[in-house]
Amino acid sequence: MIEARVMTSAVSAAEEHASVRLAGATRSELARALAELGVAEGERSMRVSQLWHWIYHRGAREFSAMRNIAKPLLAKLAERHELARPEVVTEQVSADGTRKWLLRMPPAHAHDKGAEIECVYIPESDRGTLCVSSQVGCTLNCTFCHTGTMPLVRNLTTAEIVGQVLIARDRLGDFPGGTPPPDGLVPSGEGMRAVSNIVFMGMGEPLYNFGAVRDAIAILTDGEGLSLSKRRITVSTSGVVPEMERLGAECGTMLAVSLHATNNALRDKLVPLNRKYPIERVLQACRGYPGASNARRITFEYVMLKGVNDTPAEAKALVRLLKGVPAKINLIPFNPWPGSPYECSDWETIERFSEIVFNAGYASPVRTPRGRDILAACGQLKSETEKLRARARIMLEESLVVGQD
Ligand code: SAH
Ligand code: SF4
Repeated sequence: MIEARVMTSAVSAAEEHASVRLAGATRSELARALAELGVAEGERSMRVSQLWHWIYHRGAREFSAMRNIAKPLLAKLAERHELARPEVVTEQVSADGTRKWLLRMPPAHAHDKGAEIECVYIPESDRGTLCVSSQVGCTLNCTFCHTGTMPLVRNLTTAEIVGQVLIARDRLGDFPGGTPPPDGLVPSGEGMRAVSNIVFMGMGEPLYNFGAVRDAIAILTDGEGLSLSKRRITVSTSGVVPEMERLGAECGTMLAVSLHATNNALRDKLVPLNRKYPIERVLQACRGYPGASNARRITFEYVMLKGVNDTPAEAKALVRLLKGVPAKINLIPFNPWPGSPYECSDWETIERFSEIVFNAGYASPVRTPRGRDILAACGQLKSETEKLRARARIMLEESLVVGQD
């Protein structure tokens, strides 16, 4: 009975939200909304441009702020639509300025009860990077990644992906006239944007949600709106070969590939998708990636796992493997999570590995873990909430057992 009630409320919420939310909408969705309000066809494209400017350039959260749109139309918009973003459940700020938001998405369809995802902001002196999620959970089960262990998986919608950027810009005072948070941890300077870079390295495999990711990128890079540069957007994939070329052709963003191993036997274990798309095919797709050049290199991510993939011989193999690919190498210290089966390589091992890669001519920054105090690093997303969930489930099971007695 309780289950049925939850479903009924989910249906009505889904129907309601599907038609009302305009923050995160594409141009054609805005046009459709205007058509439904009776705006004449000849007037629509002008009105779409106006709405676009207010929603994405100015970050308007109320229709009443849209001064150049006629009052009667604003009244109709306000009656049927809203500019709400996903709900911010918690905000955590690390001592190093990293911020992590837990966001609750409204139900996306009739059988969805809503979903929670995390989104992380990492400030540096010359840039601010927002790490966005593309899915709730992930179906790919890489053995070192906590996201892959989450039971619930669904794709995020375009609006939910764009919503993460809108929330970050709201919170960081990054829209015109906005005020940065008073803690002084957000980079500022002449012409500098708080969110200057986006990486699809949060939860999920972005190329398994290609359509929504592509449409979100189109919104983020639209010159009349959020206006982010394609060169400052990086999509990270575990190697979904057929979609890699499409990404280059249809989105033109930077590409990052999660390699993590230099031979198929090991990569099969770490990144199970390798059984479908082995290393040779992934590298072939990289060689053919539209726009890749020495000035626009592909990033190869390599997580440092103690005693698993971190020997000098593997560093040399990595260099050999990437010959002829315009590449950058990112060595990522493994971030442990509760119950994880691996340990992070020792610092000296990482340094030795990095030196071999560096001597072969690759810049090989070791990605310093950021936001450790708030569990904001790669592969740790959602851990706290999941733990709470697990605890709540155990409590529920216990109460059921008690009830049966
Ligand atoms: N699914 C995509 C993007 C999200 S994961 C992908 O796999 O590329 C972003 C990066 O974090 C990937 O390189 C991933 O391999 C890495 N990662 C996942 N779990 C990690 C962990 N526990 N420690 C360090 N890096 C991790
Ligand atoms: Fe999914 Fe990427 Fe995690 Fe693998 S590393 S389980 S592809 S999110």
